[in-house]
Amino acid sequence: MGALTATEQSAVERAAAESMLGRVEAWAVVNSGSRNLDGLANVAGMIADAFAALPGALALVDPAPVDAVDAAGRKVSIEHGRNLHLTVRPQAPVQLLFTGHMDTVFGVDHPFQALTWLDDGVLNGPGVADMKGGIAVLLAALKAVEASELASGIGYEVVINSDEEVGSAGSAALIAAAARGKKAALTYEPSALPDGTLAGARPGSGNFSFTVHGRSAHAGRNPEDGRNALIAAADLALRLQKAKGYGLSINPAKIDGGSPNNVVPDLAILRVNLRPATAEDETRAKSLIDGIVATVAAEHDVTIDTHGGFGRPPKPMTPEAEALFKLVRAAGADLGQTIGWQATGGVCDGNNIAACGVPVVDTMGVRGGKIHSMEEYLIASSLAERGALSALTILRLAGASA
Ligand SMILES: [Zn+2]
Repeated sequence: MGALTATEQSAVERAAAESMLGRVEAWAVVNSGSRNLDGLANVAGMIADAFAALPGALALVDPAPVDAVDAAGRKVSIEHGRNLHLTVRPQAPVQLLFTGHMDTVFGVDHPFQALTWLDDGVLNGPGVADMKGGIAVLLAALKAVEASELASGIGYEVVINSDEEVGSAGSAALIAAAARGKKAALTYEPSALPDGTLAGARPGSGNFSFTVHGRSAHAGRNPEDGRNALIAAADLALRLQKAKGYGLSINPAKIDGGSPNNVVPDLAILRVNLRPATAEDETRAKSLIDGIVATVAAEHDVTIDTHGGFGRPPKPMTPEAEALFKLVRAAGADLGQTIGWQATGGVCDGNNIAACGVPVVDTMGVRGGKIHSMEEYLIASSLAERGALSALTILRLAGASA
């Protein structure tokens, strides 16, 4: 233990003593796959009940409308769950943002639904690390902060969204609005490594659907009158694949559409994920897409509609972000925890918060691992450890000069 003030000491002890494990167990047995609206509503209610222990105005906010292109090339609207939004002391001198997500990657039909205790206090279960454990850590830290004499100087917003695992399209505007004017943000994704290492820089990510409209014709009688949309989509995929390189990964992932064997296909939809390392790479990717789409459309005499965008902007390590990481590292050191960070290829809501100009540490949640698999686990003792780390970090953010 390093140099903690008496105020810090009592907040740290209070956070660590919160009953986090019971909450994680109760929340994790309710399926909240991103597309399971009933399960999400159920979990949202449970989390809202728990967060009602905090002061401020709490609401479950409707998602923004989101559309997508279906396998038949039609624009369809996508339903999302409601998002929890809490505002506490908006007039306080220090304003912070805390975010998490209640959805998981495991749908209601997925075989992974139950909790299993493994050896040595390791809990296996859907969302225990990513990130119902993190939400429990956040609540414990905020309850401890509220009990502190410093609370009156700290205002904050909490957003717990329901669509993070599918890109946060329905909640991005809510998060961006909540980020406005904040000194710093903490997001409760699990640590990047089981030892507690935080995620530093992240690339951006964009998902695109390219709908190719050609012209159908008989495959034997008059194929020359056809314009083969499938071939054009395949050409588009190959050209995009060849354009990837340093600072930009490109993954053509799927082609929908096509036709029976005796018909020249007039429709194909190509799905592609692109990950630019920096804002400049994102700009480069956009003009690359425009150029390749125009070339393929002209050469194959087809029309191509582009749908989608870079929903996750790149998150570089800025000086402001580095200062926040160092504050967390120092808090960890004073608690006897060794905290480091490293760049990662994954993306999360931290990308969008950073794009608002707010420094963010987005892996303040539990220690665990194997997330997005049936082997996902939570190291149960990390709940108290990370609760203490967050409580101390928040108090020090309030005390540190702006
Ligand atoms: Zn997550």
